[in-house]
Amino acid sequence: MTQQITRSDFDQYLVQNYSPADFIPVKGKGSRVWDQQGKEYIDLTGGIAVNALGHCPDELLAVLQQQGSTLWHSSNWFTSEPTIALAKSLVEKTFAERVMFVNSGAEANEAALKLARRYAVDHFGYQKSKIISFKQSFHGRTLFTVSVGGQAKYSDGFGPKPADIVHIPYNDLEAVKAVIDDHTCAVIIEPIQGESGVLPADPAFLQGLRQLCDQYQALLIFDEVQTGVGRSGYFYTYMKYGVVPDILTSAKALANGFPIGAMLTTDKIAASFKPGVHGTTFGGNPLACAVANKVVEIIADENFLAQVRAKSEQIKQAIAEINQQVSLFKQIRGEGLLIGAELVEQYQGKAMDFCHVANQYGLMLLVAGPNVVRFAPALNITAQELEEGLKRFQQTAQAFVAA
Ligand SMILES: *Cc1c(COP(=O)(O)O)cnc(C)c1O
Repeated sequence: MTQQITRSDFDQYLVQNYSPADFIPVKGKGSRVWDQQGKEYIDLTGGIAVNALGHCPDELLAVLQQQGSTLWHSSNWFTSEPTIALAKSLVEKTFAERVMFVNSGAEANEAALKLARRYAVDHFGYQKSKIISFKQSFHGRTLFTVSVGGQAKYSDGFGPKPADIVHIPYNDLEAVKAVIDDHTCAVIIEPIQGESGVLPADPAFLQGLRQLCDQYQALLIFDEVQTGVGRSGYFYTYMKYGVVPDILTSAKALANGFPIGAMLTTDKIAASFKPGVHGTTFGGNPLACAVANKVVEIIADENFLAQVRAKSEQIKQAIAEINQQVSLFKQIRGEGLLIGAELVEQYQGKAMDFCHVANQYGLMLLVAGPNVVRFAPALNITAQELEEGLKRFQQTAQAFVAA
């Protein structure tokens, strides 16, 4: 079949809201991927921070096959053992007392925002509806989540937006103080802004947000869709900062590529989602939850997380050393295995071009905005895969500056 399908078919048959690379991956194992021609790539994208345990990991394949031959879906008119087991596991490992499952990051944030609004209505009244969000933030692509997100290019051009949402600069506590008030129902933040350039929050900023939310009885929502499930070297990034949110959203890596999202919260807040108030057909299906259960079991292990932190330092150092030869990047930043390398002025806007050159050298990389090359490899990438990937990164960087 692969022989008859070509990349140009994509341009003929698919809605052109993406423009994928010019090769088609057909197979993956660990941190290696092969295309239709059999060319091998080292994958340092992890499917955009999704394949935390690499491609087709044996442990997950076993679970997928086991659950796949048992029960895939039964709808939310019934529950399932894997659904309950995963919720229990997440509750035991986090601040949360209750979990709602959905199918994506956007859907998890949609649930979080609707819950914050409903909680405010239940406890304070309709006037408490203001949502504070941050410029350049990304929370998904539904109309509510693009409106809450801080990037006009994603939210404009779709008609009227949900109201009472304000966007202020990230890491600027004075700006929050200027807009937060008794009418504020929630503040939503990525502890590390992912899509817009891998920008970590200042610890004092998150602590300040927590205090202000308490003072004004607003809910603090951490969007950990990208930073969660070990990505930052902590199971969830709030654990690194020691600032506990009221609602946390998770998706991307949660089932290593099997679609799932989750919203975690407390008993008191969860009580505002009474039967029928919110829902989703696929959310919490046994297949996704069984896989996620295994992912969580593996990644929440402290030894596993310590390895992620060690690899983080190693990669940042290796990129910095390569950068000494090519002077391409002005800053290399990030936490755990979410790393951004920001291009110097001379190469502004060229991050995507850099990724295309990388493809020629058998390397898969991501961008985070126009100026940042993003690394989000599998958390279990082996020393050998990493060494090979960094070698290809060096070749890419040399070719890029020579061009
Ligand atoms: C990817 C992402 C989302 C959206 O997740 P989808 O699964 O694409 O809907 C939301 N928030 C953050 C921080 C993300 O990185």
